[in-house]
Amino acid sequence: MKEFDYLVVGAGLWGCVFAHEATKRGKKCLVIDRRNHIGGNTYCENMEGINVHKYGAHIFHTNDKDIWDYVNSFVEFNRYTNSPVANFNGELYNLPFNMNTFYQLWKVRTPDEAKAKIAEQVKEAGIKEPTNLEEQAISLVGVDMYEKLIKAYTEKQWGRKATELPAFIIKRLPVRFTFDNNYFNDRYQGIPIGGYNKLTEGLLEGVELRLEVDFFAHREELGALADTIVYTGKIDEYFDFRFGALEYRSLRFDDEILDTENYQGNAVVNYTDAETPFTRIIEHKHFEFGTQPKTVITREYPQEFSPGAEPYYPINDDKNDQLFRQYKALAEQEQHVIFGGRLAEYRYYDMHQVIGSALKKVKVHFGNQ
Ligand code: UDP
Repeated sequence: MKEFDYLVVGAGLWGCVFAHEATKRGKKCLVIDRRNHIGGNTYCENMEGINVHKYGAHIFHTNDKDIWDYVNSFVEFNRYTNSPVANFNGELYNLPFNMNTFYQLWKVRTPDEAKAKIAEQVKEAGIKEPTNLEEQAISLVGVDMYEKLIKAYTEKQWGRKATELPAFIIKRLPVRFTFDNNYFNDRYQGIPIGGYNKLTEGLLEGVELRLEVDFFAHREELGALADTIVYTGKIDEYFDFRFGALEYRSLRFDDEILDTENYQGNAVVNYTDAETPFTRIIEHKHFEFGTQPKTVITREYPQEFSPGAEPYYPINDDKNDQLFRQYKALAEQEQHVIFGGRLAEYRYYDMHQVIGSALKKVKVHFGNQ
């Protein structure tokens, strides 16, 4: 008999959901994380009474009522709606691409005028079947918008040419012919009242937790503690990078406390020109309609990934996806180990997808238990 049923490696959302569900089913879990806090990249730190999203802005949105009810059973969500503003060399545009943006860009006032303008630009560009992000973007919104709001932002974000990026990345963004600045189409959206830590703390209530524990530094001893390992870290690292390292895009966050109440009037302002070295400035208090006397802003700088840097975005191009499939085949052979989450599945997941993935795995693993 081992001490635990499950050793959950990683206290991010995927690990928290799995641990919660297993505990609910009477299983004994030990959750470990190499950081000094839980929540993975959803973690918030309180600065000046403001919940600062330490690993980048997280805005919860989903179309799935079950997932929405699930998160709301741990913490109530507010009515925050993401409506970023883009700053292109001092010109401001609403995002996502909608009638407000089209008016700001072309002074077109009706959906028909906007559609005609886009159609004219798409025709000029002569793209039939988009094969990369640039072609996909131009065929959705035309050249003007691509040049001002997409090209440089995307190339800064990913550190490569838009022509070398997969088209699916841009399909995340809605294009709408209504005056609607909601960044997402999903039915449910919001930020946990009191911050994301409430959600992950709620999930891990009653679960044994050890922080600042590196799985790879104590692999044998830790593995011996539980019948099953639930691994949510990088899949290539689990297998000692034997086929080579998967690529990621990393980020650097530069927080600043300002002695002013309201710096930019919006939670998210994207800088879509090529010269500004950061991609966006987040003003955290606006996620929760904060009225604190000061404000905290964070500039987000995309970075090349190197060993030791935080792996943020998987680069789901053909080369990396192929490498991932090799690791996945190994993972499928591994006895008593469950793999899941953004890093183990090498997927550009939003939070609701992470929760969906964990709940699906729980269902397969526990059946009707
Ligand atoms: N994007 C863009 N201009 C913007 C915002 C987004 O071109 O002002 C594109 C860019 O290619 C980016 C993708 O849309 O990689 C997805 O952006 P999103 O903000 O959804 O990404 P995340 O919040 O996950 O970083």
